[in-house]
Amino acid sequence: MDALTGETVELLQTLIRNQCVNDGTAASGHEIRSADVLQSYLEGAAVDIERFEPTPGRSSLVVRIEGSDPNAPSVCLMGHTDVVPVNPDTWDRDPFGGEIVDGEVWGRGAVDMLNITSSMAVAMRQLSTNGFRPKGDLIYFAVADEESGSKHGAQWVADHAPEAIRCDYLLTESGGIHTGDADVPFIGINTGEKGVAWRKLRIHGTPGHGSAPFRSDNALVKAAAIIQKLAAYQPAPRFHELWREEVESLGLDDETTNGLLDEKRLDDVLASMSHTGTARRLHACSHTTFSCNVVEGPMKTNIIPGVIDLGVDIRTLPGEDASDVEAHLHAALGSLADDVDVEIVMNDVASISRTDNPMWDALQRAINARFPSARLRQQLVAGFTDARIFRRMGSIAYGAGLFSPDLQAADYAARFHGNNERIDIESLRLTTQLWLDVVRDLMG
Ligand SMILES: [Zn+2]
Repeated sequence: MDALTGETVELLQTLIRNQCVNDGTAASGHEIRSADVLQSYLEGAAVDIERFEPTPGRSSLVVRIEGSDPNAPSVCLMGHTDVVPVNPDTWDRDPFGGEIVDGEVWGRGAVDMLNITSSMAVAMRQLSTNGFRPKGDLIYFAVADEESGSKHGAQWVADHAPEAIRCDYLLTESGGIHTGDADVPFIGINTGEKGVAWRKLRIHGTPGHGSAPFRSDNALVKAAAIIQKLAAYQPAPRFHELWREEVESLGLDDETTNGLLDEKRLDDVLASMSHTGTARRLHACSHTTFSCNVVEGPMKTNIIPGVIDLGVDIRTLPGEDASDVEAHLHAALGSLADDVDVEIVMNDVASISRTDNPMWDALQRAINARFPSARLRQQLVAGFTDARIFRRMGSIAYGAGLFSPDLQAADYAARFHGNNERIDIESLRLTTQLWLDVVRDLMG
């Protein structure tokens, strides 16, 4: 292992062991542990450092190498330091051990996204200790609270100290997986994200005694009917500007490809597809989706509940806004809509960054330096990342990275928030090198 990759591995192990688990509560995360580690790793190099801690323990770190030309484009390398919770019983190794087994680093965050957060820090330190002076500002942003909607992290900094992170180009999680023909692979770069429209549906009934339910008005029974309606609701598919490229790069047979590109046949093709993971991803990228995931209320076995709150995770397609979400809910619920108050929990529309710019070209060159025949492929991801906040601020934002050709897309996807999360050391080497190559090319 070369020295630089060794630094990325070691830093990744430390970040995994810090267990910055974000369970959605303000008191979780404890990203201050990793902000401290990253600050001491980067301190001493010729950089400016700022810290933000909007909520106790939820620290984010901004590190800057000032550019020599105020008119040159600025670049921000952003990685989140929090990880999602884990059930250790379903893992083959300690999720917070950071063990190396057969050339892979194991642990929660190994692909989402401490691998990238650590490789970006190593590239940053390498550049500054070697006296690299970028033309525009080069920023490293190690940010808290990505996994629960960014309120204690990127959204807070964007609202309260936007100048600290304002940039022309943002690179973050998580592209760089090889797909298609191994001789002329596609490398996926996330150029867009679906919208997030989390809603809380408050369902009203009349409270009463559980011993006498006859002719009662039970909010939980209504909630069950509403959940069934939302689960069965299937809005028609709609194709966005990246759909054709996405489908064509899958390398499927002509019959399947043509079916996926036909709005009338798409749903049937997805229903009969043998690989569930691929079908699920393609469905998400071509439909507005509704997933009922939380039920809350005064739950007691002898009380008929008078009110139930239902948490619904809605993900919208490019071009849809809050009024479209409202129309969908009305269409799905029919007359039951009258019994429901809708509260907006999160409302971020889908975002897509263009590719006709020097950053895209620099990424292409940097990836071709390692894989000469590879072509970049734009992709829209169903999940959200902090990139959406930067796109709203006017940045061009890409989910990038560069992984080993041996890492299969389906295996990689299954490790996100999944069991046995791990990353091979070759991928850590390639990703570290990618940031160095892109920054030197674009900003040198
Ligand atoms: Zn992530």
